[in-house]
This record gives sequence, structure tokens and C-alpha cells, in this order.
Amino acid sequence: MNVALITGGSRGIGQAMVEEFVAAGYAVAFTYSSNVQAAEALEGAIAFKGGRAVGFQAEVRDFARAGEVIKAAQEQLGPITTLINNAGIKKDGPLMRMDPSAWQDVIDTNLTGTFNYSRALIGELVRRGGSIINVTSTSGVVGMAGQTNYSASKAGIIGFTRALAKEVVRFDVRVNAIAPGFIETDMTAGLDEAVRKKLYAQIPMGQPGSARDVAKLAVYLASEDAKYVTGQVWNMDGGLT
Ligand code: NAP
Repeated sequence: MNVALITGGSRGIGQAMVEEFVAAGYAVAFTYSSNVQAAEALEGAIAFKGGRAVGFQAEVRDFARAGEVIKAAQEQLGPITTLINNAGIKKDGPLMRMDPSAWQDVIDTNLTGTFNYSRALIGELVRRGGSIINVTSTSGVVGMAGQTNYSASKAGIIGFTRALAKEVVRFDVRVNAIAPGFIETDMTAGLDEAVRKKLYAQIPMGQPGSARDVAKLAVYLASEDAKYVTGQVWNMDGGLT
């Protein structure tokens, strides 16, 4: 059975990925930060449908913990062949008022978190082949006002994806990124209505995407159908970019 590891899988896009990978026949390990209730509910719902998903509470900024999670996940589920670096946060604000901690938290979680899990698993992936999918953002592709920290972290993920793809292509490991635009999740739920309306007006399709849309693209990228695809950034943004 194929095994996927998804960081930040308890809610939002990561949760939809857990569900879609299980539906595609994978056993899935996922991580989360603090929301034990959401993680346990997801594990239960997957088990109820006859699938296998195991959650690990793990701070994505902690490199040593990444190694522990990978080891424990493989003991329970078997060799991981697909890694999805999805865990991410935003702490928006104009640069003029940005606290250094808001810069550091976002870079450490989004970019260093992606490094941590990739670094911890890459030795095994080059031995057996596999695929890494990194979740970046429209903000990393075109830049967004009020998101210098987030845009920088996500642009960093794009550079990381392209470089690593070239580095490991000869080992039969593919590395791609997905750049979602505006997707309805907890991350975007707090926006006030006026801002939301303004954002929708900028999207050629006039509406947000769903976590499910992003998850289905990830399943494709991990699959044999995408065996000639590496080093790419897949925009999924209703035409925004
Ligand atoms: P979300 O609903 O806020 O869920 C975030 C997930 O990441 C949760 O599972 C959370 O765990 C986990 N997480 C957060 N910080 C973590 C940490 N330090 N260590 C480990 N896990 C952590 O977010 P989302 O909207 O699904 O976003 C998922 C990814 O897509 C992110 O990388 C985000 O930047 C990207 N993205 C989102 C959008 C969008 O419009 N929503 C657009 C472009 C890109 P807990 O449940 O424990 O908190």
C-alpha cells in the first residue's frame, strides 16, 4: 500500500488531502500542531469509512521531531513514498508595523518546516523513489501587500522545490509545488466581508476554490499519471495569476 505523510493534516487543505489520499488507496500519516480534537475526529472518520490515517502532534519547526514522526509513521504504516509539506500559517500586516517575531514565525513554520520534513525523509526517498509536493501560494508567485513575510516564505518554497527537483531527479524522486489562490478554510475565515468581496472581485472565476480542489491536484501529482512532471508550480487560483 502506498503511504503518504501530510504535514498540517488536521484541518483545511491538509484535511482534504488526508481524505483524498485515503480515497485513492493510500495509508496516510498526518501531523498537526495543537488541535488534538480535530485530529482525532479525522482519524475516527477515516477509520469509520475503512481507511487508515494516523495523526501525530508535531511542531513543524522542530527538525528532530520530524525524524521521530517519520520513524513512527513508517513503523505503523510502511515506507513513505509521498511527502506533502502543507502546514502553514500567516501573520499579516504592513512591513512598517511588522514585529520581527511575525517575520520569524512565518518563515520558520512555512519555509523551514518544509526543509525539516524534506531533509528528514530525502535519504529514504532517493533510495526507493517517490514524490514531494510543497504547498506554496499565489502570494509566493506574485507577492501580496500586507504579506511580505508570508510571500517571502512561499516564494522560498518555490525556489526550494525547483532546486530539489533538479537535485533528486536522477533518483526517481519528483518534487512539485501547488500554489493555491483563495481557498475557503479556517485560514481565510476571519476576513471581514468588505475585504472578502474585494478579493473575490479580483478572481476571474469570481469565487474561492475549495480545499478539495487542491487535494485532488495533489493526488494527481503524487500518482503515476504525473510521472513526467517535476520542478513545477501548479497555480490553482481561479485564474488570479
Ligand atoms: P488551516 O486551515 O489554518 O490549517 C493549517 C494546518 O496546519 C492545521 O492542520 C494546523 O494544525 C497545521 N499547523 C499550523 N501550524 C503548524 C505548526 N507550527 N506545526 C505543525 N502543524 C501546524 O490552513 P489551510 O488554509 O488549510 O492552509 C494549508 C496550507 O495551504 C498552508 O501552507 C497555507 O499557507 C496554504 N495556502 C492556503 C490558502 C488558503 O486560501 N487557505 C491559499 C494559499 C496557500 P492545528 O489543527 O493543530 O492548528
